[in-house]
Amino acid sequence: MDCYTSDNLSSIIDGVTNNSSDTNARWTNYNNRNTSDTASITFTWATAQLISSVNLYYFTDNYSALLPSEVTFAYSLNGTDFTEIGYEDVTPTAGFTKTEYVFNRVINPVALRVTFTEKSGHCVGLTEAEVMTYAGKLEYNSSAALSGISVDGTAVDFIADTLSYEAAGSQVTASSDVNAGITILPAQDHIVRILTVSEDGNDVKTYEVTLTDKEVCDHANTEVQNAKDATCTEDGYTGDTYCTDCDKKISSGETIPATGHKTEVRNAKEATCTEEGYTGDTVCTVCGETVKAGSTIAAKGHSWDEGVVTKEATETEEGIKTYTCTSCGETKTGAIPKLEEVKVLKVPGVTLSASQNNGKIRLTGAVADYENRDDYYTITGQGFVYMTKTALGTKSLNVNTAGRTKVSIKSMGSAGTYSYSMTPKSSSTTYVFRAYLTYTNSSGKTVYVYSAPIYTSYTGLAK
Ligand SMILES: [Zn+2]
Ligand SMILES: [Zn+2]
Ligand SMILES: [Zn+2]
Repeated sequence: MDCYTSDNLSSIIDGVTNNSSDTNARWTNYNNRNTSDTASITFTWATAQLISSVNLYYFTDNYSALLPSEVTFAYSLNGTDFTEIGYEDVTPTAGFTKTEYVFNRVINPVALRVTFTEKSGHCVGLTEAEVMTYAGKLEYNSSAALSGISVDGTAVDFIADTLSYEAAGSQVTASSDVNAGITILPAQDHIVRILTVSEDGNDVKTYEVTLTDKEVCDHANTEVQNAKDATCTEDGYTGDTYCTDCDKKISSGETIPATGHKTEVRNAKEATCTEEGYTGDTVCTVCGETVKAGSTIAAKGHSWDEGVVTKEATETEEGIKTYTCTSCGETKTGAIPKLEEVKVLKVPGVTLSASQNNGKIRLTGAVADYENRDDYYTITGQGFVYMTKTALGTKSLNVNTAGRTKVSIKSMGSAGTYSYSMTPKSSSTTYVFRAYLTYTNSSGKTVYVYSAPIYTSYTGLAK
């Protein structure tokens, strides 16, 4: 063991890790702190050692001895040529605690060198170094045999002791269950060479894989997968086209837009005069969904015409009018009131009689059909007119005749008669007499009605 000694080099292998105040219990390169950037310690052995890790216990004093900025290890199989050996990432710790450097692999050297890179102007100190020999049982395989070869991820039929293979593809991988070192060279003239070396370095092999072109599929047979019809409300898909020979997806499909509902109106019903109708439901003919419900339409009610008389009314019986609905033809009847009774009044008549009455002529008017007087115009007055036959001459006698005598009688007797006695000039003078009645006609005029005339003298009359 040698190094750039400063303190006591042998102290780092005395098994004491923390007696830092004792310069004899530690090693530093204090004397070289300004002349060199690195410091090395080399361990040498008479026979090769299986080494897996090194534990270092750093001495630091916050003054000159600081943790190194870098640590490297190198080993030598012959004591002359050194090869660097890597170790798992570790952060050195100060204060006499263990910093374990685990090598990437177990080495079997006769010498091991530790090289510290110092922080500028400082030195590195150690209180202890432990070179850990490999605890496991180490057996070196002596075979360089592969256990398998794959091309493009597919294992070729591997036969032990056979070194040449042929396979379609391009990417060659290989494995060895005896931990042989494997080097796969790039293909040359379609041949990939695999160089192997046994763990103990005593066996080497060269495998060859001749690459053949992969069969190119012309995708002659295809089928469409994942196709889906569009519905009224959901998009469909034309489907993806796959090769049924190589299962490769040749092309992707496209979305088929939802078709939307195709609707028609169902259950619509027109309202009639007497029954309500329905606007109808809007229903999709494809999916049957009722997109919109209808609503009730109120009954229209009959539309009656003006009606026709199917039976005339009389004074005694009502008539019938028949009305027809112009929409539905329904009919209904209505009564026509009885006709009002129109009374046609008759013109009353009067008769005259005369008789002797103690030197006077007694005139009596009698209303004809008096008991049925309601059938006649109402009598408004009565009386007599008379004059001598000589004075009358050929004229006819009435109230307007010049020279006549008119006698109005105030009231009628209960039997419809009225009388008056007049005194003639002589018993032989012939007179003309007429009884009269008056009534008011429908025009409001007073109308005279006369009896037949009587020509007589007093002596001509019976007593
Ligand atoms: Zn194909
Ligand atoms: Zn629909
Ligand atoms: Zn109707």
